Amino acid sequence: MLMNKKKNTLPVYLQSSLVDQLIHNRPQSNSTEPITYLHPPFTFKLASSFGFCFGVKQALEKAYLALSENPGKKIYLLGEIIHNPLVNNDLKENGIEIFSINAAEQLITSLGTNPDPSIVIIPAFGAPKHIYDLLEKNNKQQLIVYDTTCPFVQKVWRRGESLSAAGYSLIIHAKPNHEETMATLSHCASASVIIRDKSDALAMAAFIKGHSSREEFDKHFLTLISPGFNPEKHLDKVGIINQTTMLASETQELTQIISDAFRERYGAEQLSDHFANTKDTLCYATNKNQQACLALANSGAQLAIVIGGYNSSNTSHLVDILSWHMPCYFIDSPKSIISRTLIKHYDCHAKTIKDTADWLEEGNVTIAISAGASCPDYLIEKVIKRICELA
Ligand code: SF4
Repeated sequence: MLMNKKKNTLPVYLQSSLVDQLIHNRPQSNSTEPITYLHPPFTFKLASSFGFCFGVKQALEKAYLALSENPGKKIYLLGEIIHNPLVNNDLKENGIEIFSINAAEQLITSLGTNPDPSIVIIPAFGAPKHIYDLLEKNNKQQLIVYDTTCPFVQKVWRRGESLSAAGYSLIIHAKPNHEETMATLSHCASASVIIRDKSDALAMAAFIKGHSSREEFDKHFLTLISPGFNPEKHLDKVGIINQTTMLASETQELTQIISDAFRERYGAEQLSDHFANTKDTLCYATNKNQQACLALANSGAQLAIVIGGYNSSNTSHLVDILSWHMPCYFIDSPKSIISRTLIKHYDCHAKTIKDTADWLEEGNVTIAISAGASCPDYLIEKVIKRICELA
């Protein structure tokens, strides 16, 4: 039984009257101009777009709907619903059991033999294809499925499927271990290879142009190719898709590098026979939040705070953008702000928590604020209030 129709509102604890008021009072909803909030000696400049996206909201609405519709029953979530530890912990405290996606196959098989129906939630990132197939196979009254897969993730799968059907191999710009990437790989029938960054794109371009050997390709891409991938055969006709939350400017740069390589190899007139000319598959929230951070970078702020889960891909790119322009601190809670002289923040590249001393000057300071698509408004309000306590 697939449960998708009714929707609940988000729990009050995720909402913020301060953030609602700031968004309500902004001059134009379609402008990237930052929202100003004055609390002397601080001026906060909030990104014009931040926080919960459509996909996250609908995933949480369905998860809380599953709880309200199935009191006292066991509810299993196949991986984190979104990348925010406080939200996942709240679901756990409400009785939802979070299962690793790697253990999902065994779980579903065992639930399928239970005499009573069990409840399973698929997270916003989606799940590998064989998990949907297994749920369908066991869907004979024993399983009630709340599928919260984001429609923008499904759009990537459809693009991958249509390119596959047209005979293209896939180059996927993505983070290899991200749940969405693993799901996307399983939904695309074609031979595929992941590129993570510019160095991967340049290594691939070198092979396409005949400047590097098969041995060099295999060494570089060993863990990034689908089984049986043969670059001599499969890099003849390719299409590019992206994880929904990648850095837009990086996606454009990598696409250009690969397309230039094909142009050099086959000539401009033959390019369309070998390289699918499609748009990127970044989602609307990724684009809007990154555009808003670019505008925020020019708002006169002296420092930036970005709030989100440390394993959140989209949040890490907001940090990247603001870090190009000013000191930027990636925190997941107001507790990271210890005092004016100490903040504990996450370094996405070193993957460690860092201490920074004397991060907040005395006197008037303008602070840029943004938050990832999986960050609830109440956390943003708590961070702003925590900074105000330091006045
Ligand atoms: S960030 Fe984009 S793809 Fe991810 S849940 Fe939100 S809308 Fe969907």
